[in-house]
Amino acid sequence: MKNIRHVDIGKEISIDVKVSNSKQKFLRLTLLTFECARCKNIVYVPQDIYKKKVVKPFYCVCDEKKKGVFRLLENESEFVDFREIFVYNENKENSIKVVLQNNLVNSVEKGDYANITGVLKAVPHNSHTVFDYVLEASMVRKI
Ligand SMILES: [Zn+2]
Repeated sequence: MKNIRHVDIGKEISIDVKVSNSKQKFLRLTLLTFECARCKNIVYVPQDIYKKKVVKPFYCVCDEKKKGVFRLLENESEFVDFREIFVYNENKENSIKVVLQNNLVNSVEKGDYANITGVLKAVPHNSHTVFDYVLEASMVRKI
């Protein structure tokens, strides 16, 4: 695996790695659906899978001056299968987190060697000034 640097953030990269650890599979929210209690307007709010907090709507178009009152429609919200794995190169110089989603969640296990292609992201690590590198995988090929 080549050295990953901040200039690579937002770019698609392809790396050869060994899977050092894998976490449990989760369902992550990608979209929440709310109904306005006043006008019954439906509001869709996309969720950021890397944030710990749920994003809720604040106002509804029926009254932009008052804080909205919304009811969550759980059955109309959307989820994605989500799993984090940790990978490193042969001499263990670089270790990063990789996010697997949907049909990729079971593509590799601990100890597997793989070529992983994906977009490199910077995700906040507990504070707003420290970030982790996370590779959001789009393709995984065992090698
Ligand atoms: Zn409304």
